[in-house]
Amino acid sequence: MTPVTVFAGQKVALFGLGGSGLATANALKAGGAEVIAWDDNADSVARAEAAGIGTQDLREAAWPGFAALVLSPGVPLTHPEPHWTVRLAREAGTEIIGDIELFCRERRARAPGAPFVAITGTNGKSTTTALIAHVLAQAGRDVQMGGNIGTAILSLEPPDAARIHVIEMSSFQIDLTPGLDAMVGVLMNITSDHLDRHGTMEQYAAIKERLISGAGLAVVGIDDGPSRAIAERRTGDLVRIHVPSGDALSTDALTVRDGLVRDPDGTALADVNGIGSLRGAHNWQNAAVAVAVARALGLSGEEIQAGLSSFPGLPHRMEEVGRRGSVLFVNDSKATNADSTEKALTAFRDIHWILGGKAKEGGIFPLVPYFQRVAHAYLIGAASDAFAATLEGVVPYTRCETLEVAVPKAAENAAASGAPEPVVLLSPACASYDQFRNFEIRGDRFRELVQALP
Ligand code: ADP
Repeated sequence: MTPVTVFAGQKVALFGLGGSGLATANALKAGGAEVIAWDDNADSVARAEAAGIGTQDLREAAWPGFAALVLSPGVPLTHPEPHWTVRLAREAGTEIIGDIELFCRERRARAPGAPFVAITGTNGKSTTTALIAHVLAQAGRDVQMGGNIGTAILSLEPPDAARIHVIEMSSFQIDLTPGLDAMVGVLMNITSDHLDRHGTMEQYAAIKERLISGAGLAVVGIDDGPSRAIAERRTGDLVRIHVPSGDALSTDALTVRDGLVRDPDGTALADVNGIGSLRGAHNWQNAAVAVAVARALGLSGEEIQAGLSSFPGLPHRMEEVGRRGSVLFVNDSKATNADSTEKALTAFRDIHWILGGKAKEGGIFPLVPYFQRVAHAYLIGAASDAFAATLEGVVPYTRCETLEVAVPKAAENAAASGAPEPVVLLSPACASYDQFRNFEIRGDRFRELVQALP
C-alpha cells in the first residue's frame, strides 16, 4: 500500500466505495488523514464501516471542513451531469480529485524522481500497460502495475527511485488528476468513444492531451487526426509512433512495417513477427509504444526483444486458448463491437467464427469486407436473426444458440476442413449480457469448452 501523507491531520471527503474507493480510504487513513466516506449504495457504505472507515451521508456534512473531495472515477464529474457531491464540493470551493492525483502528490513529496509511466488512449490501454510492465519485469526491474487495469494505484507499493509504476489511465481518471506529472506519458490513439461521458470529441481529446502535457517524455501514436494534432502541439520531448497503412510514411517517427519496429533513421529495434500475443497491426502499435518506453527507461535492445517475445498477452483479447491437431482456438471475447472484431478477422485466415450476443448499432455490416476470410460462422445469442441476414448467401452459417453447441460444432468442422491451420475464433462483435454477465465470463466459458473437447 502507498500511505497518502499529504493530507495528514486533515479531513477528506470520499465518494464511491467500490474497489479503488476502499483502497483510497485506507491509504489516506494510513497516512494520517481523517476520511469521511459515502456511497449511493448502502451495501458499500456498510462494507466500509465494517472495515473501520468513517462514514456519513455527505449531503449532511459540513463541507467547509473538508480539504478535498476524493471521487471514484466511475462517478460523473461532468457528463451526463455532475454528481450531487460534485455540486456540493463546488459550492464549498473544495477541490475534487482522484486516487491517481493522491499518488502524484505523494510521489512528489516522497520520491519526486521515481519512474512513473502513465498510459491512455481509446483502445489498447490494457494490452500496452501489461506489455510495458512485462518487458520491464523480464529485464529484472521492480515494476508496479495498476490504475485502470487490475490493482488500484494506492494498493501498490509506494513510489521509489528504484521502482517503476506503470499505470493505465481512463479519461475519467485523467479528469480527476490535475497535477498529473508522469515521467513518461503515453497516448495511444483517440477515436470516438465514451462521448456520453465527455460531451464532444474536442473535450474528450483535450482530456487525453492532459496526460502528455505534464509528462517529461511523451509517446504519442500519430495514426489518427486528434492524436496527430496533439503531437504537433507538443513542445517537450516526444516520440511519435506510426503504423503506416499504405505508403503514408512519417520520417520522424518510430515506425512499424511488416512487423519490424524501426527508428526514424531506419535502424531495426525489434521484430514482432511470430509473436502469437502480438498479432495484427493494432498490436504493432502496442509493441512500438512498449519499445519506446523501455528504451527511455534504459533497457537494451536484447532485453526489449526478449520481453516482447515472451509476452503471454491478456486474457480475452485474441488469446490462444488451445490447439487440437492443426486447429487453433482463439478467445477474443473482449471484442464487443465490430471495430474490435475487425482486428481479429484481419489477423487470421480459414476462420470458424463464433459470434453473436447483444448486437451493437450497425451489427456486423462493417465486417463484410473480411467475410472471405471466414470459412463458416456459428451464431449464438440474441443477434442471430440479424447476423444471419447479413451472412446470407456470402458465408455459410449454423445457428447454434449457445456456446455449448457452437464450440464442438466449430471444432469438428475446422478439423475436417483440410486447411493448414484453421482457427476457431470467438469474437462476438456483441455485448455478452443476453447470455453472460460480462465478457470475461463468456471468454472463460469458451476456454472451458475448448479444454473439454475430446
Ligand atoms: P483498452 O484497455 O483500451 O480497452 P485493450 O488492450 O483491452 O484496450 O484492447 C481492447 C480491444 O481493442 C482489443 O481486443 C483490440 O480489438 C483493440 N485494440 C487493442 N490495441 C489496439 C490499438 N493499438 N489500436 C486499436 N485497437 C486496439
